[in-house]
Amino acid sequence: MDKVYIIDDDIQIVELLSQFTSMLGYKAEGFTNAVEFFEVYPEDSQNIVIMLDLNMPTMDGIEVIRQLAVRKSNASLILISGYDSSVLRSAEKLAHAHNLNIIDSLTKPVSFELLELLFEKISGSETPQFAQKVESQRPIQLSELRDALIGRQLRLHYQPQVDIKTGHLVGVEALVRWQHPERGLLYPNHIIPMAEEFGLMGDLTAQVINMAVTQSRLWQDEGLCLPVSVNISAENITSLTFPEQLTELLKAHQFDPSLLTLEVTESELMGDLITSLDILTRLRMKGLDLSIDDFGTGYSSLSQLHRIPFTELKVDMSFVMNMCKDDEAMGIVKTCIMLGHELKMKVVAEGVESGEILQRLEALGCDIAQGYHIGRPMDVIQLRSWMNKNSELYPLYAEVVSD
Ligand code: C2E
Ligand code: MG
Ligand code: MG
Repeated sequence: MDKVYIIDDDIQIVELLSQFTSMLGYKAEGFTNAVEFFEVYPEDSQNIVIMLDLNMPTMDGIEVIRQLAVRKSNASLILISGYDSSVLRSAEKLAHAHNLNIIDSLTKPVSFELLELLFEKISGSETPQFAQKVESQRPIQLSELRDALIGRQLRLHYQPQVDIKTGHLVGVEALVRWQHPERGLLYPNHIIPMAEEFGLMGDLTAQVINMAVTQSRLWQDEGLCLPVSVNISAENITSLTFPEQLTELLKAHQFDPSLLTLEVTESELMGDLITSLDILTRLRMKGLDLSIDDFGTGYSSLSQLHRIPFTELKVDMSFVMNMCKDDEAMGIVKTCIMLGHELKMKVVAEGVESGEILQRLEALGCDIAQGYHIGRPMDVIQLRSWMNKNSELYPLYAEVVSD
């Protein structure tokens, strides 16, 4: 973090936030007018933070967001407003739609502790945001991704999922990573869109499922029952041979299909619904579990949800993360839990970032939790030490009895 810019028409707020920023050891520069800010706006915005008030005369926060988007800014943006939180959420969505790197949105007054937490989040080396930022700017070439698939450079990280009522570790979600020879570890946002664009998702998913099943089988052989979830994409659910290929693979590993969950996002169901329905129904008939991922962000109708034999509903993390500070997010989480249960599905909340969220989810009767508060996605070795450390808090649900 090189510098923090504070833009607010209220001079007292500018002074207070500048003081907080300096106390936290960062350089601050304040503006009571966004026009002046753009006069000094640096060309390289990679390591800067902008704290932006939405309600300002002359140029308001929404206009600033638009100007930042025009300049293709990659600054870290924190929105602040005296309005109610729904205005902040809408501004946040707008910033997301413009591909801006929005860190959080805060209602006034802003406390020192909160700011400290946010700055830690931005500069903390362990956060994914940071990992993605330090990657080089050169766009990744298609040939590199092809090489990665041939050269087996893909890796899986596993994120724990726990039963909220009992605390048992009931499974892990496998998330793809790319161990790039020069750039280091890359996250799905660098992999999936490109693989989708160039029709490589069939190959990628096959490798991911293969790795996940192989790993889960290894755990079983050691006596650990750890069901695994993998994400599949639209291309997989339009390939009519996918269920058979998958069954072959499971047979080859002598893998119980009920220990594998396939996650499909709502938006992926938008394409050829009849084919997807055909494929998903066959997968379910073969004993696999089906999960609807990122629920609440797409456009699936209730009848669609009823028609496809989903066994699990994953409430999108944008709602879960905000449920304790935003009544609307709380309302959506509540409704999703009720809907999932009404349709006889297990409900998973992802993005559980605090103990407070976990407690509220328990009170709402949500079944399973996944999120940074419980554990981040980890490689197999890290996961093992996480399990050892948390064996009392999150004991294994079942041990496989070997004969
Ligand atoms: P997803 O399936 O919804 O996975 C959850 C994402 O949220 C993961 O990001 C995970 O690291 C992150 N996450 C988990 N808990 C928290 C939390 O408490 N707070 C926050 N802020 N984030 C949390 P990741 O690994 O970057 O994956 C992003 C998306 O990429 C996934 O979203 C999934 O849609 C896609 N993806 C990942 N692996 C695969 C894959 O093998 N195949 C396909 N088709 N898609 C994949
Ligand atoms: Mg998922
Ligand atoms: Mg999700």
